[in-house]
Amino acid sequence: MSTKCGEIRVSWKHIKIRFKKEDIFVKAAKNYKFWFATGSQDLYGDECLRKVAEHSKIIVDELNKSGVLPYEIVWKPTLITNEVIRRTFNEANADEECAGVITWMHTFSPAKSWILGLQEYRKPLMHLHTQFNQEIPYDTIDMDFMNENQSAHGDREYGHIVSRMGIERKVVVGHWSYPVVQGKIASWMRTAVGIMESSHIRVMRVADNMRNVAVTEGDKVEAQIKFGWEIDAYPVNEIAEAVAAVSQADTDALVEEYYDKYQILLEGRDEAEFRRHVAVQAQIEIGFERFLEEKNYQAIVTHFGDLGALKQLPGLAIQRLMEKGYGFGGEGDWKTAAMVRLMKIMTQNMPNAKGTSFMEDYTYNLVPGKEGILQAHMLEVCPTISDGPISIKVNPLSMGDREDPARLVFTAKEGPAIATSLIDLGNRFRLIINEVECKKVEKPMPKLPVATAFWTPYPDLATGAEAWILAGGAHHTAFSYDLTADQMADWASAMGIEAVFIDKDTTIRNFKKDLMLGSIYYR
Ligand code: MN
Repeated sequence: MSTKCGEIRVSWKHIKIRFKKEDIFVKAAKNYKFWFATGSQDLYGDECLRKVAEHSKIIVDELNKSGVLPYEIVWKPTLITNEVIRRTFNEANADEECAGVITWMHTFSPAKSWILGLQEYRKPLMHLHTQFNQEIPYDTIDMDFMNENQSAHGDREYGHIVSRMGIERKVVVGHWSYPVVQGKIASWMRTAVGIMESSHIRVMRVADNMRNVAVTEGDKVEAQIKFGWEIDAYPVNEIAEAVAAVSQADTDALVEEYYDKYQILLEGRDEAEFRRHVAVQAQIEIGFERFLEEKNYQAIVTHFGDLGALKQLPGLAIQRLMEKGYGFGGEGDWKTAAMVRLMKIMTQNMPNAKGTSFMEDYTYNLVPGKEGILQAHMLEVCPTISDGPISIKVNPLSMGDREDPARLVFTAKEGPAIATSLIDLGNRFRLIINEVECKKVEKPMPKLPVATAFWTPYPDLATGAEAWILAGGAHHTAFSYDLTADQMADWASAMGIEAVFIDKDTTIRNFKKDLMLGSIYYR
């Protein structure tokens, strides 16, 4: 059976069940959990404290049972004194699997008793501003009930001290049973894991930054101080040796897997010659992955102009590594490579994920009403964002001096997404976050041998692009359908860097004010 997708003939018999993403993902190291700490005091007597504990256990159980949260919540005994609070936060610091603490004041908890604990605490913090009951029990409410259920009171006292101390935290408001509240907790958990895992990202630089390019450069020492990233260079021939060491048998087996999984679009090329080109990428995929694993790197950059003994620019190979969860940046762009890895960690095991990729702004459609930016790269777009079948093509690169590289070709899904660019302004970093709407292009592009996406930035192409350029955004982005601007902004806040938004509410006048305020605050 076959069907026609534009000019591309697709035969469905080749499509096989793909591995589940979690089977192949380069996992973040730990099985993260979140602690749930309920605040109170000993003024209310044992009976009240017994109910406080009972209520918070019910909330934790129900949240865990909701199926909404990506990570488990662990209930902790009620925090009622300075000593217990301080000890609990320090235990959270020491527990490698704890990615954050969710705090909630069931009753009043005098906030001076939180100062030392909060001062010593170093992990993500959430303030869940909820209460056990949903409705005021009009017929039965008395002062005992009021004393026992006073989050509106106690959470303000607690919130005050966290603000006074200038501590970053996420505040989520609403009844704990509401899907919107659970969704906000789930979303923050992914950000918190991104914050925790940021300092475990190690980027392998294969060759240097592309000569004369500015925006892909940056201060690697400052990036390690701010984000915890380790960014190390390797001579290209060291990794080329690892590629050459991959056996013919291993390479052939992976080529078989490719041929099973993807459409083969010969387009007039000799079948045996095509297969040899594909095999070069299979060998690169295995060699690169072994090298990365052995040396413990989760992101990689390459440069088409500095390939040493490699026969082709890694194309299909890099696309497959990105699908497995590795970060990638082209032409030495280590900032984007680390961001892609970070965003892949944040979306790890997300049900119905639509994908996260390295991306590049290429060319515009400026036809009124159809404005958008065609996104691609020379080769390296992650197949997680693909919509429908994926094909292999072999085509000249028209840059550099190597064999025609094999690459995966597809178009991306429709729908809302974010494109982010992390730039180094010389004295500080700025994260630019653009909400975009991904669309199908009007017509197939049969002569374009790369994977593509097409999107219209919010609020519209003219305003979005003007704001992006005013902010100094790069041509490379870390792109995801599965994360929100707020999640990335919370990550940026935790890292102590500026984040600017380009979205439905952006006007150039206000955006310029945002940039001015940022330049004062973050200098
Ligand atoms: Mn590029």
